[in-house]
Amino acid sequence: MKNDVNKLKSQIEFLCKNFSYYKKEHSFDLIYSLRNLTSLYSDLLNEELVYYNKIKSCHPFLIMKVYYRDIKYPKCFFNNFIYNKEFHKNFMSNIIDGLGYSLKEIFSIDNLENLASCEVDELTSFIDNKKLNSLLFNYFENNDKEALNIYQELVNDNRIFESDEIRCSYTTYDIINRLPFMVIFKDNSIFDMIAMVHEIGHIKDIYRYNNKIYDYINKSTFSEVFPMYKENRLYDYLINNNLYKNDIINSFKVNLLDCFTGCILIEKLASLNSYYLKNRRYIQNFFNYDSNADFNIFDTITYSYGFLLGTYFSENEDKIEYYTKQKYFLFNKRDLDNLGINSKDIVDSYQKKLRKYNLI
Ligand SMILES: [Zn+2]
Repeated sequence: MKNDVNKLKSQIEFLCKNFSYYKKEHSFDLIYSLRNLTSLYSDLLNEELVYYNKIKSCHPFLIMKVYYRDIKYPKCFFNNFIYNKEFHKNFMSNIIDGLGYSLKEIFSIDNLENLASCEVDELTSFIDNKKLNSLLFNYFENNDKEALNIYQELVNDNRIFESDEIRCSYTTYDIINRLPFMVIFKDNSIFDMIAMVHEIGHIKDIYRYNNKIYDYINKSTFSEVFPMYKENRLYDYLINNNLYKNDIINSFKVNLLDCFTGCILIEKLASLNSYYLKNRRYIQNFFNYDSNADFNIFDTITYSYGFLLGTYFSENEDKIEYYTKQKYFLFNKRDLDNLGINSKDIVDSYQKKLRKYNLI
């Protein structure tokens, strides 16, 4: 075990020395290996707290989604969840009651417990790069000039990495320059465009939270709300213009499935006694027992609230401006009340959206 830690330290040191996000070709490999390494050794890293803090504070990009364990279980995030657990429980239970019938219909199931095992056909049409770029440019030009500016700034600064290795796109930042950058998974489909619009939503949020970027990325319950709102606006635009409609409906359904599987988990989680909720091992066992082994509470909460509220805002655009003016980090019942958001409004907005997409 000691050997493993030493091996990891020397590898991380090598990666730190060699990393530069300006050297595109090499950087991606480094990010990739570091991600693999740290998820592999997350247990060991967690025990080596001194070293862990040292590298966390000394290197520009180690702050990114590298420290899986830290991100999976940020303490203040989870304590906040426990503090609000009654609210989460009632809120989710109203949402599930209000939309359960529609969800059963959409995914052809009798019991909502089966939602977790449903799958959506994710076949997508091939679109070449040139076409995707002009589609993206047109979209920004006519609908989101601010996003266009951010996009151009990122392109000029070489702050967009393309990846065809990890099936995931994400945004992170360099803690020395405090500049965000993104990695986009490319598969020559409309998903490339969705990913770009989503990640630019994160960049905009990061600019907004400039003084507290670390908190925003690593702790905020609401970090997925604004990107999901942007994603939903793109869906509406493509559907209204009859562009790649089937692909978009599929993507929406995938999000719907993940979101509501998450809502059900949140409801269950919030129903647990606080004593058990504080026991990390208990929670892991509780959920690994009947769901997939890779269950991540932080992701479940942020993505579920993200899609839930992001979709809601796309149907209630007058509220997004007020929302973005507030500095939301941790979940707070008062924040939602101030916005006039309640479970009934959310259910109504979803019904509207589902009818618009001909899903019900
Ligand atoms: Zn995101």
